[in-house]
Amino acid sequence: MNDIFMTTEDQRAIIDTVRRFVEQEVRPQAAALDANPDPEQSFSWEIVEKANELGIRTMTLSEKWGGLGTGALTTAMVIEELGKGDIGVSVIFAQTLKIAQMMEKALNEAQQARVLPKFVDNPRGMLAIGITEPDNASNYFLAHPGPFRTSAQRKQGGWVVNGMKHFISNGNRASFYLLFVQTEKGKPLAEGSTCFLLERDRPGFTIGRVHDKMGERLANNAELVFQDCFIPDENVVGEINGGFKVLAEFLPYSNAYAGATILGVAEALYAKAVDWGKTRIQGGKPLIEHDGIRAQIAEMRMLIDASRTYVHWACWLADNPQHGWDKTLGALPKAMASQTTWKIATWCMEIHGGHGYMKEFGVEKLVRDAAAFLHSDGVNRTLFLKAANFMFRD
Ligand SMILES: Cc1cc2nc3c(=O)[nH]c(=O)nc-3n(C[C@H](O)[C@H](O)[C@H](O)COP(=O)(O)OP(=O)(O)OC[C@H]3O[C@@H](n4cnc5c(N)ncnc54)[C@H](O)[C@@H]3O)c2cc1C
Repeated sequence: MNDIFMTTEDQRAIIDTVRRFVEQEVRPQAAALDANPDPEQSFSWEIVEKANELGIRTMTLSEKWGGLGTGALTTAMVIEELGKGDIGVSVIFAQTLKIAQMMEKALNEAQQARVLPKFVDNPRGMLAIGITEPDNASNYFLAHPGPFRTSAQRKQGGWVVNGMKHFISNGNRASFYLLFVQTEKGKPLAEGSTCFLLERDRPGFTIGRVHDKMGERLANNAELVFQDCFIPDENVVGEINGGFKVLAEFLPYSNAYAGATILGVAEALYAKAVDWGKTRIQGGKPLIEHDGIRAQIAEMRMLIDASRTYVHWACWLADNPQHGWDKTLGALPKAMASQTTWKIATWCMEIHGGHGYMKEFGVEKLVRDAAAFLHSDGVNRTLFLKAANFMFRD
């Protein structure tokens, strides 16, 4: 079903490779890694290195930098395939793939030459983006007038940063970050913040807590802590106080990639519902021969296919904006895909009856995973508000 928009042999070869990787390297380990009580133990460098060997980690970079130059549509297909195996693995790579894609466009030539070869040559090279902080979460999606707490003071040759970010995907695993910091006091986020390139080993930057999440456990999320961390001028991305422009201009596909990740979970739930429907016999016949169950499974199919079409539409228009990209596509596809997945999670549980509640049947992990994107990449309600602002205010 992920194949409809697959139009080239290259695309097909990439997706086949990712499917094999998921089958051989991700699915067999996912449940055991998820069950680790320590979130750091749920993360696997082995999976990252295997993906690297297959070119998955760097595929969004152009051939000049050793990547495959995959466009947004192919990247979304890859992210969904990974999500079918495990949502955390999908998130690890969705973040890295999208930020690499963003870095190649947003970094100046000197920054690219400094960062991209190091990222490409490191088989464990991961990327992260630090925007959210305890006091500023939905605020930045809604261009709230308040400033970021994480702020920078001008010093000769650069900026001294103090503050913290939290919930950051790959936060404790990345080697490079894009960091959003208040650089002008008293200005709203959208006018007074700047995007910086940040290296993991910069003095004054440390990792705080690694969050203990209910699901999506194979990916780590962490706090980023800044205590008098000096970031030089050559690490400013774009313009001073133009951080939000960097986000708007270079990250149009983030929301659709998040939608692709969570649709992978929807597909896994759907497959489980169909399998169970075919094997479980009640009332003298398999569940799937009962009209109510069969109709519900068809409704699942409809919701997944419609959500994927929306995600793919947003991806295609992100790469071809002249055909009618509009800003709501940077907010709504993920909301639809995550609502779809959450609905399917509850239906899959229901179809499994009491068995769905028993951990051994594997539905429970998927239900925890299915909740992840009701909030990641923006709380859905916040995204509806953001879209409404584009529609009726801007
Ligand atoms: C698993 C995960 C991974 C993440 N990864 C990253 C990352 O890599 N980088 C990053 O920067 N961030 C990341 N985030 C943050 C994410 O993008 C959300 O912005 C954040 O989780 C929102 O969290 P909050 O609890 O502070 O919500 P709040 O902003 O406090 O919102 C709470 C509720 O109030 C509602 N609300 C808020 N403001 C308004 C308003 N003005 N009007 C009406 N309703 C409102 C919201 O819709 C929500 O229902 C991640 C979050 C999660 C959960």
